[in-house]
Amino acid sequence: MAKKIIVVGAGVIGAASAMALQADGHEVTLVDRAEPCAGASFGNAGAIVNGSCVPTAMPGIIFDVMRMCFQPLSPLSIRPAYFYKILPWLMRFVWQSRSAAASKNAIHLRALTQHAVESWLQLIDKTTLTSFIEEAGWLKVYEREASFSATHKARKLMIDTGTKFDVLGRAEIHDLEPNLAPIFNYGYYQKDCLRIVNPQKLVQAMVDVLLARGGAYKQFGVESIQTTASEVTLLGSAGTLTADKVVVAAGAWSRSLAKQLGDNIPLDTERGYHLVLPESTRGLLNAPVVNGESSFVLSPMETGMRLSSQVEFAGLDAAPDYSRVRSLLPMAKRMLPMLDVEEQSVWMGFRPSLPDSLPVLGFSSTSKNVLYAFGHQHLGMTMGAVTGRIVSDMIAGRNPIVNMAPYRPDRF
Ligand SMILES: Cc1cc2nc3c(=O)[nH]c(=O)nc-3n(C[C@H](O)[C@H](O)[C@H](O)COP(=O)(O)OP(=O)(O)OC[C@H]3O[C@@H](n4cnc5c(N)ncnc54)[C@H](O)[C@@H]3O)c2cc1C
Repeated sequence: MAKKIIVVGAGVIGAASAMALQADGHEVTLVDRAEPCAGASFGNAGAIVNGSCVPTAMPGIIFDVMRMCFQPLSPLSIRPAYFYKILPWLMRFVWQSRSAAASKNAIHLRALTQHAVESWLQLIDKTTLTSFIEEAGWLKVYEREASFSATHKARKLMIDTGTKFDVLGRAEIHDLEPNLAPIFNYGYYQKDCLRIVNPQKLVQAMVDVLLARGGAYKQFGVESIQTTASEVTLLGSAGTLTADKVVVAAGAWSRSLAKQLGDNIPLDTERGYHLVLPESTRGLLNAPVVNGESSFVLSPMETGMRLSSQVEFAGLDAAPDYSRVRSLLPMAKRMLPMLDVEEQSVWMGFRPSLPDSLPVLGFSSTSKNVLYAFGHQHLGMTMGAVTGRIVSDMIAGRNPIVNMAPYRPDRF
């Protein structure tokens, strides 16, 4: 039966969920406290990595955390003022890095991401969205053998879970990306992925499709959620909204909304940065390339080459520190010598992350009228369309394409 549904959060997860629910015949309103795509979905590296399965908490990560965390410009850092706040999350994260836990998380991550490309192609079929998504591979490159060898645990997980990739040498890397400096002797490559040429325009176009098909968009900041047996009321400074069902897809800000319903979910944010280079640089690469040694991605985008990187634990309120991403420019130039490194814009965003690298997909423990869909960490663009499918299946009471137990809100 058609229901009145409100989706909170107009990032990629909310927009994909809204489109899928609308396709099921529901009356859908997408709400966001700002304009569409104001969160992490705006500034990512734009890679849709089919079958991506390597969780952030990998065996040995504790040593990386200890080595890097208080160095301000390292790929991973913790602001000292946030240390005690993030400590419980970090302890869970380290627990998830045990070999057995990492293997289990990889299986559950891949269960979702193996449907990434097929779900995106289904979602964008016969819409204007096709102009924002292209076929691409996912290439990681390394200069030194030791750095490449250090990826053996990640590659083993990929093999164990059935994620296909090719190991490349210098010549094959050059064939794929002729403009890269000839310093990369090792790499691995996943074919059959996609890239988003402009994530912000993609999400805006998803909202436009929703509206063209009769859905609604409201700028509305949700301050509190109240539930009864039959409906959900959202209260905000702009008044109240009611619906039969609500989907919480507010990215890194979802924790406080879930808490109001009694669900204490260990969601925190791994902040990340990007820096955009002149438009003339966008043709220098065919697809996103990861510099595995320096932990950054160069993504050719409509607006110019986008350099994205960093995991910073500093919570939702601390001011950005753009020196982090700027410090990578010399390495980007070394990687791609023709790069014009004149900064056009700079950005910081909030990856919504759980310690096990899995999203939360499930109903609130106190109301079957509120469904959570958040926590997609480094892979929200990858998992956007498949999450929409799952959300619509769960609301309809159908069996989703994967077993939902690993993503339950109460799994911690
Ligand atoms: C540097 C960087 C690079 C990345 N690269 C990739 C990549 O290449 N591939 C990939 O798959 N993923 C990537 N990601 C991760 C991806 O961007 C995120 O996982 C994804 O965007 C999360 O989407 P979301 O819709 O859950 O959250 P968001 O996009 O953050 O959207 C949440 C929305 O909720 C709204 N909101 C919050 N609170 C409220 C409230 N109370 N009321 C109303 N609205 C509210 C916000 O305004 C926001 O618009 C990257 C992330 C970063 C930071």
